[in-house]
Amino acid sequence: MNYYSLNKKAPNASFKEAVVKGLAPDKGLYFPEQITPLSPSFFDNIDRLSYTEIAFEAIKQFVSPDIPEPILKTIIEDTLSFDFPIVKLNENISTLELFHGPTMAFKDVGARFMARCLGYFNKDNNEQVTVLVATSGDTGGAVANGFLGVKGVNVVILYPSGKVSDIQEKQLTTLGRNITALEVHGNFDDCQAMVKTAFLDEQLTSNMQLTSANSINVARWLPQLFYFIFAYKQLHHTYNDIVFSVPSGNFGNVCAGMMAQALGLPIAHFIASNNTNNVVTRYLQTQHYKPKPSVQTISNAMDVGEPSNFIRVQEIYKNTFSDLKDNLSSYSFTDDETKAAMLEIYNDFNYVADPHGAVGYLGCKAYLKENPKAHCVFLETAHPTKFLGVVEEVINKKQPLPVQIQSVMGKEKESIIISTYDELKGFLLK
Ligand SMILES: *Cc1c(COP(=O)(O)O)cnc(C)c1O
Repeated sequence: MNYYSLNKKAPNASFKEAVVKGLAPDKGLYFPEQITPLSPSFFDNIDRLSYTEIAFEAIKQFVSPDIPEPILKTIIEDTLSFDFPIVKLNENISTLELFHGPTMAFKDVGARFMARCLGYFNKDNNEQVTVLVATSGDTGGAVANGFLGVKGVNVVILYPSGKVSDIQEKQLTTLGRNITALEVHGNFDDCQAMVKTAFLDEQLTSNMQLTSANSINVARWLPQLFYFIFAYKQLHHTYNDIVFSVPSGNFGNVCAGMMAQALGLPIAHFIASNNTNNVVTRYLQTQHYKPKPSVQTISNAMDVGEPSNFIRVQEIYKNTFSDLKDNLSSYSFTDDETKAAMLEIYNDFNYVADPHGAVGYLGCKAYLKENPKAHCVFLETAHPTKFLGVVEEVINKKQPLPVQIQSVMGKEKESIIISTYDELKGFLLK
């Protein structure tokens, strides 16, 4: 598969080039040249296929011929070494739990897949690749864990000092080896700005191969389409009219769902559920796209003022507003509404949701008011104990810590404190 840049001013790239570069030279996001739907027999036989067989069939066109099929099979088996269960709350609402991976956030699948692809591309290459990534919390841990020990790859993670949860900080500062955490005096936007400056800095890019591990990278973005097919496999006998409510920040996950739909998955509709960072909710109401600086919320992984993948969403609908609007609804909720939803989910269904999942649940409820026959699946994108403070406060109950979280809590944090871009550059060049 070849990929073109959505800025249309760069040469097309193979899967390998797109992964190694991250962003096209014209700063556009890469998008696949074609999307060939899966055969009807794939969906007819889905009950007989394992998750790894499903994932293999779904992604092979996007990575061929750069990764040979037997290698791709191994990469997928290693990536998907945990479960993706559906929990039914009532006849109209289920949740798809995407937090059973090593860092308990849905980003584990994309990070693990991308790390293994880069590891394969680097196996007979003596040049180092540096993965540079800014995180508001979950990306850092998933990337650190996914890339730990991958040969030829150095990972540098920038995170805002004092603005990630204790558990998130432990997950990204305690691994060592090829992972370095830079603790930035500033907020997430400052981290993101430094990373962007680095990618544009010719003195850096002529000296080293820099790539990103945010969802702009096709190898992190595309594997997320698996989730929607896994949910369909679990629900298609019971429900016809399946819709997904996706707690959205950079819109990589919901956009991957739309790719699954383009592959032929019978999904009736998508809901992008937002916190008060609601540029897309407003766009669907007004047809005016107006990014704004992000504001801090309790669902902090969605505190994004200008979602980087929305341009891919528009490309899927060929930039036709009415087609997009027919297939996507979007709602936005405040922190108070989110907390009330967490309590409601706990009281009514005896289920503990994290703040991101709770926003997804509210999106389902809003949509079901107009479409009472649908079955809405909200994605539970992080385990509730990753947001322990707010979860325990809202439901007023102590939560047991899962082993994945316990195992990092006792470890020693190691970070390098920086305040300016020059300090970042100095670190990268040394
Ligand atoms: C990253 C993240 C999101 C948002 O996903 P996007 O693909 O950026 O829209 C939602 N919830 C959690 C817990 C996350 O870590």
